[in-house]
Amino acid sequence: MDKIYKTDEAWRSELPPEVYRITREAGTERPFSGEYHDFDAAGDYHCACCGTLLFKSQQKFESHCGWPAFFDEAQAGSTYRVRDLSHGMVREEVRCSRCDAHLGHVFPDGPKPTGERYCINSLAMKFEPQ
Ligand SMILES: [Zn+2]
Repeated sequence: MDKIYKTDEAWRSELPPEVYRITREAGTERPFSGEYHDFDAAGDYHCACCGTLLFKSQQKFESHCGWPAFFDEAQAGSTYRVRDLSHGMVREEVRCSRCDAHLGHVFPDGPKPTGERYCINSLAMKFEPQ
């Protein structure tokens, strides 16, 4: 995948402030506040920063955690993980492979077949209906 590099200033000028805070400063939207947590339309979820396909509606499930949850990524390598030691926890942060946007975290308590739960901020994604 071809990486996209932009300066902080460039991202700040082209993204809405809330999207910038989540994706470039590793923020988290309030639970149950996002557009996609209670949402089950068929389609694709793209990175809010660079448009890369990240997740598909067939991979989404209702986790009741307050954020959109997926059991897998659109294709292997759409995202990558970084160990996150903030807030006194050990978590796996999920980022966009193309532009390094912070998307959310992945937890090992998801459904089959992967057993994983990608807990992703709605603001980090743009939905395209099928
Ligand atoms: Zn991206």
